Amino acid sequence: MQKRKLIRNVRSIISCDALDTVYSDSDILIEGYQIKRIGRNLPVEGCEVLDGSSYFIYPGLVNTHHHFFQTSVRNLMAIDYPNILVVDWLDLIYPLFAQIDNEVIYHSSLVAMADLLKHGCTTAFDHQYCYTRTTGKYPIDYQMEAASLLGIRYHAGRGCNTLEKVKGSTIPEEMVETTDEVLADCERLVKAYHNPAANSMSQIVFAPCQPINSYQQTFTEMLALARQLKVRLHTHLGEGENPIMVERFGKRTLAWAQDIGFIGDDVWYAHGWELQKAEYELMGRSGTSLSHCPAPAVLGGYPIIDIPAMERAGVNVSLGCDGSATNDGSNLLDSLRMAYLAQSYRSKVRGGAPSSYEMLKMATVNGAKTLGRDDIGSLEVGKAADLFAIDVSCLDLAGTLHDPKNLLARCGVTGQVSLTMVGGEVVFQDGRLLTVDEHDLSLKANRVFEKQLYARFPAIFG
Ligand SMILES: [Zn+2]
Repeated sequence: MQKRKLIRNVRSIISCDALDTVYSDSDILIEGYQIKRIGRNLPVEGCEVLDGSSYFIYPGLVNTHHHFFQTSVRNLMAIDYPNILVVDWLDLIYPLFAQIDNEVIYHSSLVAMADLLKHGCTTAFDHQYCYTRTTGKYPIDYQMEAASLLGIRYHAGRGCNTLEKVKGSTIPEEMVETTDEVLADCERLVKAYHNPAANSMSQIVFAPCQPINSYQQTFTEMLALARQLKVRLHTHLGEGENPIMVERFGKRTLAWAQDIGFIGDDVWYAHGWELQKAEYELMGRSGTSLSHCPAPAVLGGYPIIDIPAMERAGVNVSLGCDGSATNDGSNLLDSLRMAYLAQSYRSKVRGGAPSSYEMLKMATVNGAKTLGRDDIGSLEVGKAADLFAIDVSCLDLAGTLHDPKNLLARCGVTGQVSLTMVGGEVVFQDGRLLTVDEHDLSLKANRVFEKQLYARFPAIFG
């Protein structure tokens, strides 16, 4: 018989289901990885019981864009993203990336995923494009090990850059791969890790880094292989590259993507702050999703996407924290708050802004859809028990509890949650990751970053 858990007498369960059901003073019965029942006074026999009487429980958040390896280069005033242009920033940051080895990959991934879990995220996508002389082809293997240690669901994006600097890319020579190398590694990774079944803990996505830093052939061949192997596709789009694309191909990036077929309901892009209204229509019609990352837009001083207009055009918009070189944390609750504030800031010129609850559904339901999953994203019978709880029996939340759906972004609930559960397993509770010795790991991570990065760039790290 499978393990049964009962979270009993939960003050509010915000399901994010199609009817926007909120259950009050109810129980969640979990069997194995799945939610079996939600209701009042469910039988406790044979169950491990958790008291939910002071909890609001939400579906686990789904992060749809990140670069885990960048958690090793945070808090850098010597390379100050808000005060320089992206092109200059790339020139300054890439020499650091070139020194990264698999020890840095492993520990920076643990750092990112720990931060995600502590702030309610249960499924994370990472866009991994850091392949250096010392990493070889193995960063995703190290990341899979880190994800499995912490107990988070992990979708790995096999990124790449194939265009040499002399041909117009911004990539150091030692980080450029060939299309054939990348394709061979994509196939290897799918065989090793891609599990499309319900309750999957690991999936692979093909994700050439960005159109200006790879050959078009890399995109078309990865696309063909992805469709053959039935995996999803991802890239950066609309984050400042349009003038270069127009110069190089005579068209904007989305038109280029449409022409080569890198578009559709198995594709999502990150950012999109350069997209124009007519392009929103094309995204919507083609079923292509967008990962909105508010941090790099706000911190970089770039335009804020018009989410109400995107939704009217039928675009599925999800939420990402983005890599830690442009968002120094991996806290998705913080990104949720930032996205909500940024949308509200534009409300008078756009005829309104999404509610806090609508933004929460971007980070849950829409995130699951972006990753092509129907087993996560909401709290419903038959879905995976991926959830997080906040304890609302505290003075600072008094006066807010009458509207659990809107609480998080509206009231700035961005701290560590009380409990995070992935597939029925509690992985974080009351300030402690239950799967690792956090103290030892943090010492080790700092030592690895110090040796591989800080000691080599004293002018940057001080
Ligand atoms: Zn990115």
